[in-house]
Amino acid sequence: MITAERLALPYTDAVAAATEHLYAGVRRSVTRAEWELYAPYVARIETLKRERKAVVLAHHYQSQEIYRCVADIVGDSLTLAQAAAATPADTIVMCGVHFMAETAKLLNPAKTVLLPDLAAGCSLAESITAADVRALRAAYPGTPVVTYVNTSAAVKAESDVCCTSANAVAVVESLGARRVIFIPDQYLAAHVATKTSVEIVTWQGHCEVHERFTAAEIIELREMHPGIVVLAHPECPPGVLANADFVGSTTAMLAYVKERRPARVAMITECAMAGNLVDAFPEIEFMQPCNLCPHMRRITLPKILRALETMQPQIEIEPALAARARLAVERMTRVRRDAAPT
Ligand code: SF4
Repeated sequence: MITAERLALPYTDAVAAATEHLYAGVRRSVTRAEWELYAPYVARIETLKRERKAVVLAHHYQSQEIYRCVADIVGDSLTLAQAAAATPADTIVMCGVHFMAETAKLLNPAKTVLLPDLAAGCSLAESITAADVRALRAAYPGTPVVTYVNTSAAVKAESDVCCTSANAVAVVESLGARRVIFIPDQYLAAHVATKTSVEIVTWQGHCEVHERFTAAEIIELREMHPGIVVLAHPECPPGVLANADFVGSTTAMLAYVKERRPARVAMITECAMAGNLVDAFPEIEFMQPCNLCPHMRRITLPKILRALETMQPQIEIEPALAARARLAVERMTRVRRDAAPT
């Protein structure tokens, strides 16, 4: 988490003049005192972005002073990597976790990709290794491997095709196989299995954020807030999904809120997502049990600034491995994303 002692740059008149227009967009959720800590970093980052021809990408789970004030593109991990490819930027700053930065590098091999803190990992990505995938292939000969994008490049390189939580069913069915190995999220795999007749072999990986939600929390939420609409991410346990009104990816949840405008909604996913929407949808009341991703919280304004000043730390992927991993991602992009029922 950001602490006041790390936010040490002074809030000057010049900073105030350069950033005041940005404060208007976050004033419902950021206090004036907090803003005066953030603004000197926001101003300096904006200057360096221009000098370095850099684009800042922020995942939906990123904290709001990053998501709302310095990000050029926001979205899910794949959207971010694809969007970065379409920009003239030479440098990509990934405000997300390590596998997201790797995906950005895979799809933008000629660009410099910076991850402000290399220790920003992911319990799901770390639950499986390339050797584990080879062992699964040996145990299920001839069975294709579908790999969630929340994995390392080394795991993607051992896979036939990648998927996101938005297109997982469509990707599984696109293979025309009777059985697929679907890794590494056990709960996403269980959800996919309810939507297809393809037999799913999975792995015991979990997201440490989503696995903490419980069905009892959702039931209590409904009792306390009658009429609330519950949206849940498919990385949540099956009992949570069974008690939700809608199950979908972060992008699908955002689309639901934009299109249906529920009066009161709970987004059962990383806590920052709802916080990032408060200013954009002032008429909607966002309520939720709150679980934060400690890896996302490693990315801070001072670290983004330092990354742009030093052009470090950079993401590098061994070229032969990157070519195989890229192939798995590119195969996914040929499957229509909107074909997925999640
Ligand atoms: S929220 Fe879960 S899946 Fe996403 S980065 Fe954090 S640990 Fe990984």
